[in-house]
Amino acid sequence: MRYLSEKAKKISPYTAGEQPKDKKYVKLNTNENPYPPSPKVRAAVEKFDPASLKLYPDPTAKALREAIGQAEGVPAENVFCGNGSDEILALCLPAFFDEGGEGAAFADITYSFYPVFCNFFGVKYTLLPLEEDFSLDLDKLSALPAQGLIVANPNAPTGIGIPLAEIERFINKNSGRIVIIDEAYMPFFNESAVPLTKKYENLLVVKTFSKGYSLAGMRCGYAVGNAALIEGLFRCKDCFNSYPLDRICQAVCAAAISDRVYYAEKNALVISERERLTEELRGRGIEVLPSKSNFVFARHTRLSGKEVYEGLRARGVLVRHFQKPRIENFCRITIGSREQNDALLAALGE
Ligand code: PMP
Repeated sequence: MRYLSEKAKKISPYTAGEQPKDKKYVKLNTNENPYPPSPKVRAAVEKFDPASLKLYPDPTAKALREAIGQAEGVPAENVFCGNGSDEILALCLPAFFDEGGEGAAFADITYSFYPVFCNFFGVKYTLLPLEEDFSLDLDKLSALPAQGLIVANPNAPTGIGIPLAEIERFINKNSGRIVIIDEAYMPFFNESAVPLTKKYENLLVVKTFSKGYSLAGMRCGYAVGNAALIEGLFRCKDCFNSYPLDRICQAVCAAAISDRVYYAEKNALVISERERLTEELRGRGIEVLPSKSNFVFARHTRLSGKEVYEGLRARGVLVRHFQKPRIENFCRITIGSREQNDALLAALGE
């Protein structure tokens, strides 16, 4: 501790889902996609020339931003890329929030990295409690004093999605302050606010290759917004890391985003398994929140969340449990392949 800064001593880091190596688990704890990336990703890796690695990558990831722009229907100048959407969300704090200012506002139950980022960057935050049914009241969020607002849509770990029309009303209502919509799970909902970035200068939409493109191991995310917001992110990135995306990542992600057909098919399978699993769990008397993402948030009527988590783990199935008020009796279960989901149901039966 002697050599650590006061800040490093005090911060509480985010805890990522476990990646145990002690045995082979049915891994339904970190919202990875059960399907492999597109064959175009394999082709891009095979075509990649390792000799090119002696050179630094393009610091602006121009070709990748163009490919993303093409897929999203926006020019490359409206796209920013980062080393995972986590990095982009982190850069949003110095880019859009003043230290000692009004800070950020978001739900009490949402992606638990938001408060960690706020603390790290010295930005205060206000939490809005979710309603009894775990929905988010956007009018209540709009009423909070804050320099900017952050909403995960669909939300995590609840999985609940907010229709685009409501999101638009919210963005409109908050003109004059930044609204960040974290769409990490949007490939399983298809109500993206990206088209609204052309209409609203206060909107930044953050997306990722990790879930909908089966590329969690590649670490790439992107943001879409008006050019001034993107410029702000670039300014902060270039004060921290000029080259967050390596050459392989830029090539692979550009190939992935060009394969719309493959991913539409695979993500439709995830959605249909989500509906099946929801029904199966409810049929066993388990409460399941209505999910629009690639996981379900479920609560057993008799067993605690910890008991379910531990019982499944002992049977080789990993799910995520959060020891937090209001949600300690839930487990977040990633939608796996049909076989993985059947293994979960069998273990649950035991
Ligand atoms: N936002 C939300 C809501 C998430 O659940 C996650 C995944 N942990 C992320 C962003 C970050 O994803 P990544 O850094 O892999 O792009």
